[in-house]
Amino acid sequence: MSETKGARVCVPVCVRRADELGPSVRRAAEVGELVELRLDCLDADELPAAQARLGALPGETRLPLIITFRPREQGGARDVGLGERLSFWLDATRRLRASSGRDRLFADLELDLLESGRLNPDDDLFRTFRVICSHHDFQRTPADLEEIFGRMARTPAEILKVATRASSITDCLPVMRLCERGRREGRAVIAVSMGEAGLLTRVLAPAFGAYLTYGSLEPAQATAPGQLGASELRDLYRVKELSCGTLIMGLVGSPVGHSLSPHMHNAAFAALGLDAVYLPFEVVDVSEFVRRMAAPQTRELDWNLRGLSVTAPHKQAVIPHLDRVATAAARIGAVNTVVVSAERGLEGFNTDADASVVALGGLVELGGARVAVIGAGGAARALLWALAERGARATVFARDAVRGREVAAEFGAEALPLDGALFEGFDVVANATPLGMRGARESETPADAAQLRGAGVAYDLVYNPSETRFLREARAAGCRCVGGLGMLIAQAEAQFRLWTGAEPPAGVMPAAAAGRMSEAV
Ligand code: NAP
Repeated sequence: MSETKGARVCVPVCVRRADELGPSVRRAAEVGELVELRLDCLDADELPAAQARLGALPGETRLPLIITFRPREQGGARDVGLGERLSFWLDATRRLRASSGRDRLFADLELDLLESGRLNPDDDLFRTFRVICSHHDFQRTPADLEEIFGRMARTPAEILKVATRASSITDCLPVMRLCERGRREGRAVIAVSMGEAGLLTRVLAPAFGAYLTYGSLEPAQATAPGQLGASELRDLYRVKELSCGTLIMGLVGSPVGHSLSPHMHNAAFAALGLDAVYLPFEVVDVSEFVRRMAAPQTRELDWNLRGLSVTAPHKQAVIPHLDRVATAAARIGAVNTVVVSAERGLEGFNTDADASVVALGGLVELGGARVAVIGAGGAARALLWALAERGARATVFARDAVRGREVAAEFGAEALPLDGALFEGFDVVANATPLGMRGARESETPADAAQLRGAGVAYDLVYNPSETRFLREARAAGCRCVGGLGMLIAQAEAQFRLWTGAEPPAGVMPAAAAGRMSEAV
């Protein structure tokens, strides 16, 4: 496979008024290597004014310009028939024929226009512009994508662009295959899976040979579903440094959009200068993902996948699909880390468990300590395992008393009802429920100050916000307080060691997590 490095980022300009075009092109040119002028975003009555300015627009930037004039079904703002589109392009050709450098001017024409028989390869259009043939499907990734691509390849276009909606992450497979086909057939290709599940194509397709990837001026100005910001592509995912040999790690879960993990891991890779990238993988069907995209024996994508973080709701469900599971992860019944290798297949680990007690170091001697664990889910299980390993005496407080007793029995702990619990005399009280997390449950707590009076350390596994209602109640009760960020960082650092064999650079992950949390507030 030939190595492609140095992704081009194309920044779309989608404005409604003609007088906004010039300034927007200049702003877009500051963050990208190409600018896409979406003239189909203009209000209908602004089109003549925009056309009148067309000849001057290439002078606004030294960057290549891609012009589009799409009908609604291909992503444009309004209905424009074939005839109107044809007239638009003939007019644009007239206005730009004398413009400097055909190499800098691209016309993005839809497949139906190029197949209409009304354009001829000898037309001035093909001497004025480098022509892209595009096909968009905002509903699905069609089963006949290869045939559509074949039809596109028979047009006189120089570059072929396919952008289809990914309803699941495996819809990225046929789209990534087009990059491969383009390389094989010596064709320039742009291949995008739209939607959250398609994110990997936006980051990786250029490394696999795609001509460019699209990135918006600001994340909020995305012109297609799932489009990333140009600065995210450059600074977070370092698209310019990726090649098809880059080590790939990713977070498997649903939802994954707001995770801090890409920020922490990518910052650590960058700080060490590692040729590695970490992506969020929006995965609903973990079994299909593992089979078709991760397992070295069965996957359909030739990529250098090295590791996975696994989050809700797949920490348990992933286990039957792994080749090996570390003893602790098997006992806990949850895997949050997978190492992928050709020799050993998929190996599952649980880095949450040891990480869950890191933050208590220096505050409490865990051997013999009395620890109350509120909750009986995955995080509670990881904490209970780590506490048992260190000789602590744990008590589970769960709202579901039966579940609480079962979980406690598995880890040699006691169980008490959560309702009306009093925590006086406990060295540590840990919240392992989602109560207090940013969002709808932010104002909730599993225990108030009156219940926490007389306890030593209050430990909230929730890390966002850093100051939860539980910790505020605990402080009022005179407890020492510790939040969940330390655990988040410690589990990520342990993953980093498992995947790379390298020590994560000191302080980089905490700074990345804290920076991201302050941005997100
Ligand atoms: P989980 O498997 O869904 O378990 C959640 C537990 O909380 C269950 O026992 C659930 O009880 C209980 N719960 C939910 N709502 C409750 C309520 N209103 N009152 C009392 N108990 C309630 O989730 P998890 O994976 O254990 O994660 C729990 C939390 O830990 C997460 O939300 C996250 O904030 C935190 N966490 C932090 C880190 C970190 O690195 N800092 C890592 C993992 C998790 P039922 O069984 O009755 O539903």
